[in-house]
Amino acid sequence: MVSVAEVSEVVKKVPTGLWIGGRAVPATGGATFAVFNPADGSEIAQVADATPADAVRALDTAVAAQAEWAATPARERAELLRKMFELLTERAEEFAVLMTLEMGKAIGESRNEVRYGAEFFRWFSEEAVRVHGRFQQAPSGTGRIIVAKDPVGPALAITPWNFPLAMGTRKIGPALAAGCTMIVKPASITPLTMLALAQLATEAGVPDGVLSVITSSHSGAVTAPLFDDDRLRKLTFTGSTEVGKKLVVSSAKKLLRTSMELGGNAPFVVFDDADIDAAVAGAMQAKLRNGGEACTAANRFLVQRPVLAEFTEKLVAAMADSVRLGPGLDPTTTLGPLVSAEQRDIVAALVDDAVAAGAKVLIGGEVPDGPGWFYPATVLADVPPNARILHEEVFGPVAPIVAFDTEQEGIAAANNTEFGLVGYFYTRDLDRTMRVSSAMRTGMVGVNRGVISDPAAPFGGVKESGFGREGGVEGIEEYLNTKYVALT
Ligand code: NAP
Repeated sequence: MVSVAEVSEVVKKVPTGLWIGGRAVPATGGATFAVFNPADGSEIAQVADATPADAVRALDTAVAAQAEWAATPARERAELLRKMFELLTERAEEFAVLMTLEMGKAIGESRNEVRYGAEFFRWFSEEAVRVHGRFQQAPSGTGRIIVAKDPVGPALAITPWNFPLAMGTRKIGPALAAGCTMIVKPASITPLTMLALAQLATEAGVPDGVLSVITSSHSGAVTAPLFDDDRLRKLTFTGSTEVGKKLVVSSAKKLLRTSMELGGNAPFVVFDDADIDAAVAGAMQAKLRNGGEACTAANRFLVQRPVLAEFTEKLVAAMADSVRLGPGLDPTTTLGPLVSAEQRDIVAALVDDAVAAGAKVLIGGEVPDGPGWFYPATVLADVPPNARILHEEVFGPVAPIVAFDTEQEGIAAANNTEFGLVGYFYTRDLDRTMRVSSAMRTGMVGVNRGVISDPAAPFGGVKESGFGREGGVEGIEEYLNTKYVALT
């Protein structure tokens, strides 16, 4: 277990002011709000509660830094991102402890997130120097065509609480690589990790004003003036579909470039020819990574009838044998608390609704006594089609299982959602792999694997899971405008 002294040492180092112009500053008027530990409900820290004027102040510094940052040689920007990767890797344990403290997840999950989050700095340090344009003769013979790439300009990133570090780094990495300055507004429930990261960026040598962080307990009001300001040119958002839709409307005022990484309702399909042990191992990862609080989490387990009994039995056994619910900082914990009492109640209500509709609880399903916002690993069988849990994002460690008969039925069930982020399936048949991958109406498909996130791959959804891609060679394009220069 990480000692109380070690924890308070980590917290003490975090700047709790707004990070504007390369230093921590209090909010105008000096207001603060509290951050809580989901494992016991205790207060961890007070952080600055930005006002709308503070958001404009952050934009002023981003605008002031924009031209020089865009003109900084790509190689120098790359070296700064590389330095951020190195510092984050050196301080991985501090960041992991901080994230577990404010978000709750098991420390092993936080360590994985630091590794994953840091990779976006390494990846985009490599991409920064590979922004290419094009030259061609006009086919008509009347001139020449030059295609150049320019940074979009100052960007606003709004991030969720479930991956307090990585959802920020996969925006900051490509923005800085492309030559854009950025203001990050992290989730109010987990602001500390992003404040610590901003401090690290300044330490790495990122110029003042290039990266700012504004923390706030009233996000809508604080970010509102930015959407009325011509100087902001890009919004990149990760969060719920509901909030994402509102922000698309706000972005329309000045026609901002937008990237929307929104909610998911991932199907996990097990066909009758699958390796069932591998499918169970993948299901455990797809369901329990980040305690189930992931947009990529498998939300619905669709299992072909001949393998239903075996898959169900083995999944329940795996949950019983390998999941240890407890405080995230306990090294033996594999499943920490959910992020808040509200989130825990949402998960519990979805399970209760399914049970009332006729589902059977095979393991879990009951809120343990407090303190803390815990919910156990849960498997539900015979879940009827109208149960809310099949249609809403669970964001918790609950696996509802539904049977299907034919491949077409499995695909239809998988696509029966307004979301389209990721779909998983297990099969040993190559033809089926190609058919089902192409039939899945999602931005990403996992075949015979339960985790797909990779900084080198384009992450993103279709339908109401959003648009735009993060990571891969595509990620930097979100921060570049294409300029055509016509020459004689
Ligand atoms: P959320 O409620 O939509 O909040 C996301 C962010 O938006 C937070 O920083 C929040 O601030 C801010 N926000 C809320 N209302 C706002 C408004 N009117 N104006 C400006 N900002 C506003 O989502 P969440 O509960 O933090 O995160 C969970 C959701 O994120 C899930 O739906 C999950 O699927 C999705 N997610 C998607 C991806 C992906 O890549 N597709 C990745 C991770 C998570 P406050 O904290 O102050 O409310």
